[in-house]
Amino acid sequence: MKAEIIAVGTELLLGQIVNSNAQYLSRELAALGIDVYFQTVVGDNMNRLSEAIKLAAERADLLLFTGGLGPTQDDLTKDAVAAVLGRSLHIDRMAMDHVDRYFKDRGAPMTENNIRQALSIDGSTPLPNETGLAVGNAVAADGKFYVLLPGPPSEMKPMYENQAKPWIMQHVLTMEEPLYSKMLKFAGIGESGLETRLLDLIENQSDPTVAPYAKESEVTIRISTKAKTESEAMDKLDKLEAEIASRLPDHLYANEDVPIEKTIVDMMTEQGLTVSAAESCTGGLLMQSLTSIPGSAAVFLGGIVCYSNAMKEKLLNVPHDLLEGENAPGAVSAETAKVLAEQVRMIVDTDFGLSITGVAGPAYSERKPVGLVYIGISRRGGDTAVYELNLKGNRDTIRLRSAKTVLYHLWK
Ligand code: ATP
Ligand code: MG
Repeated sequence: MKAEIIAVGTELLLGQIVNSNAQYLSRELAALGIDVYFQTVVGDNMNRLSEAIKLAAERADLLLFTGGLGPTQDDLTKDAVAAVLGRSLHIDRMAMDHVDRYFKDRGAPMTENNIRQALSIDGSTPLPNETGLAVGNAVAADGKFYVLLPGPPSEMKPMYENQAKPWIMQHVLTMEEPLYSKMLKFAGIGESGLETRLLDLIENQSDPTVAPYAKESEVTIRISTKAKTESEAMDKLDKLEAEIASRLPDHLYANEDVPIEKTIVDMMTEQGLTVSAAESCTGGLLMQSLTSIPGSAAVFLGGIVCYSNAMKEKLLNVPHDLLEGENAPGAVSAETAKVLAEQVRMIVDTDFGLSITGVAGPAYSERKPVGLVYIGISRRGGDTAVYELNLKGNRDTIRLRSAKTVLYHLWK
């Protein structure tokens, strides 16, 4: 909720009086939790006042005016607001009675121009003036709120406190719409890669907002919007999600805050598919992440941690001369990853067999660099896909990213 205070009066611009009304109202609005982004001062001039109103309506939700409600021709605030809103003014009965009584009580004749003090904008709530004559107005129009208060502080303050403030609390503050957000989860792309592809949205989109959300080894963005109803919010969020999905179709795996293993377990459960894994450098991390998902038993049947070359040979039938020898590809190789994935799939008898073999560091092995990892995905009745990864980071990061990357390719 953003507010703008518009103090009307040429004497303010001439420096004849201090704008203490703005100070008072700013402090009062702050107490209500309403942000005042601008205080405007404008003279008693129809064109410039209209200009100020239009500008304020573009950048604020609540416009609070002081001054210019009096009887003379230079008191223009109601005329200007009514004109900008395309409404007319009418004589408010109660306010007119109040003015009449004032003059009767004093035995003075009421001059014609005093009728102006009883004018109200059509459709507005009149704000009675306890200490003066001019009636205030509060009006909601086109999703914005306009509150018109008199200039003299002795009138403005009681009107604000007793009339305007309750109106604002009832009509404006209850408008504060709840925030709805959605988490979008991405795999197979880094945070900076994602930001590059969504930069225009992150920087320019204000409703819904798009914000990257840092989370260990997971790339997440949060899109948020305020709306009156959940379905209105979801409409907006769904549209933006569709736009983002169309830019990153191979990476957006979920529209809620779940790890990719959850998406995989759900997907495979639905399709009645099973999976097994053979892990070297990750030592079971992949199996740990899959089995952390409740209900994974229907999907993940088992696997083997084959850390040493001997275990790769003995438990997973990797040929000895693939692993060791002068010109052997070695344990960290596409060939070994392929055999591991195929063997574990056949041994455990699943639809998919996954494998990971690599150098997690800190020391290199087989004269291969830290971060070089091969992952394999073997599918029943299909080919075995092998991917070479060159990961950066420390041992933990490399292991985690290896596991996440297999899951990403399995999902894709
Ligand atoms: P009136 O019926 O007295 O004409 P009004 O609502 O038309 O009231 P103005 O004519 O703009 O208000 O100002 C009347 C007097 O109120 C000013 O002479 C000044 O003393 C005081 N006043 C107006 N605006 C402010 C302000 N922003 N801060 C402090 N005092 C103000
Ligand atoms: Mg005046």
